[in-house]
Amino acid sequence: MRIIVTAGPTREAIDPVRFISNKSSGRMGYAIAAAAARLGHEVRLISGPVSIPAPGKVAVERVQSADEMFRAVKKSLAWCDVLVMAAAVADWKPASVCAHKMKKRSTGSLLRLVRTPDILKWAGRNRKKQLLVGFAAETRGLLAEAGRKLREKNLDLIVANDVAEPGAGFDVPTNRVTLIHRSGQVECWPLMLKTKVAGRLIKQIESMLSTGV
Ligand code: C5P
Repeated sequence: MRIIVTAGPTREAIDPVRFISNKSSGRMGYAIAAAAARLGHEVRLISGPVSIPAPGKVAVERVQSADEMFRAVKKSLAWCDVLVMAAAVADWKPASVCAHKMKKRSTGSLLRLVRTPDILKWAGRNRKKQLLVGFAAETRGLLAEAGRKLREKNLDLIVANDVAEPGAGFDVPTNRVTLIHRSGQVECWPLMLKTKVAGRLIKQIESMLSTGV
């Protein structure tokens, strides 16, 4: 199969030296890209700024902002059979970027934020045959929130994780995930290394593609 994986955070520029971002390390997405390549699939990894090495046999496209990631996904969606959006895309960006470094002496409210494009929602509306897999990082109401996102974004599968739980979520090597399928079926996986979660997820996607569910 041909698979696109997005990974890492995005950075939304405030001025030439400052940005808004989040705690994503990119580990989960990189592990998924590596597992897919190891299993013989063609992989394109669209990566936000991270400090981990690129996996072998994977074509990496580096981006900074949500807008850049959106452009990269749009360009490649028709190419792929599967899109896995593991990136922690920033939800807001500054309404405008200052051309020069902002001064501390500036007064008043400095930042006006606007929403970034929802890349996965766009993919859910514009896909043809592609299987869509999303991630949901939550700190409360995990299953309800993830189920809502699955429906709102028109996904086939959502991988939910409680980022407040020790050993799960951002910047740790392990994760405990719950998978929610389009059919409503729910699977709770135990705490595992992210590399293990990635391998199982690719197997799951392979079986969904072969059975058409
Ligand atoms: O809505 P929420 O950000 O919680 O949804 C998470 C899922 O949506 C993830 O798969 C993430 O990669 C994707 N997403 C996106 N574009 C955004 C925000 C999230 O594609 N602007």
